[in-house]
Amino acid sequence: MSRLEGKVALITGAARGMGAAEARLFVAEGARVVITDVLDVEGKVLAEDLGPSAMYVHLDVTDEHEWNVARAVAERTYGRLSVLVNNAGILHYGSLAETSKDDFERVLAVNLVGPFLGMKVVGGAMAAGGGGSIVNVSSTGGLIGYSTLGAYVASKWGLRGLTKTAAIEFGHAGVRVNSIHPGGVRTPMTDPDGTGATVRPEMFAQQPIPRIGAPEEVANLALFLASDESSYCTGAEFVVDGGSTAGQDLAAAASVAP
Ligand code: NAD
Repeated sequence: MSRLEGKVALITGAARGMGAAEARLFVAEGARVVITDVLDVEGKVLAEDLGPSAMYVHLDVTDEHEWNVARAVAERTYGRLSVLVNNAGILHYGSLAETSKDDFERVLAVNLVGPFLGMKVVGGAMAAGGGGSIVNVSSTGGLIGYSTLGAYVASKWGLRGLTKTAAIEFGHAGVRVNSIHPGGVRTPMTDPDGTGATVRPEMFAQQPIPRIGAPEEVANLALFLASDESSYCTGAEFVVDGGSTAGQDLAAAASVAP
């Protein structure tokens, strides 16, 4: 259990959901982890639960000043950051005709401008200080489109593209940058009250793996990319979606041939 021994990781939006699962796994694998979020109570409780290898720092990813403060606090406490997981994200439902400009920009601010600032502030320090690994949490919404999720899809395609520019710009300085693309995963984003009422099995019935994913299944992929095991991987997309983007099951759907 030491795949991240000696690493210092900052994870955004880590008070709950996938980010929290990554924080737990990274600490178990020997990293020191800076849990950041805007949910201060949940973030502090998680950090206390994980012990001295974890700390909580408030960080609204849309605020460049808060990024600089979080980086400074992290470095003062644990030393140089070597892993950044840009995980914080928000959803907004609405057709293009129904989505306001404010809502569209709010989603882009968190899901795209946030990771941009993270790569600028933390990625820049990693590049100057000897390297590291950045994991950008996109979505299958960064590979295909979904109705009623235009702002989200735009943000996740944008993050996929920005990942490639960052990989090229930082590569020679030893910083690897990859995007991960989860399909449906059971977290407070998809199951806000924790009862499963919003997780409809029929939404997953056509997938090769016909169920919703668990946050730990995404954390395992983030662990691989954060660790030196992925030393030849950069600028790439890694999909963890139960096969949902593999294609259509025409036999099961009894569809006409395309
Ligand atoms: P979640 O809602 O449980 O967690 C997201 C976290 O981001 C929350 O703790 C929230 O407080 C935090 N956050 C929101 N705005 C923030 C801001 N301005 N600054 C800092 N933190 C902020 O959702 P999740 O499912 O764990 O999502 C994690 C990531 O995975 C997101 O980027 C999401 O888009 C992506 N994703 C989720 C799914 C899914 O099915 N759950 C699928 C694909 C991709």
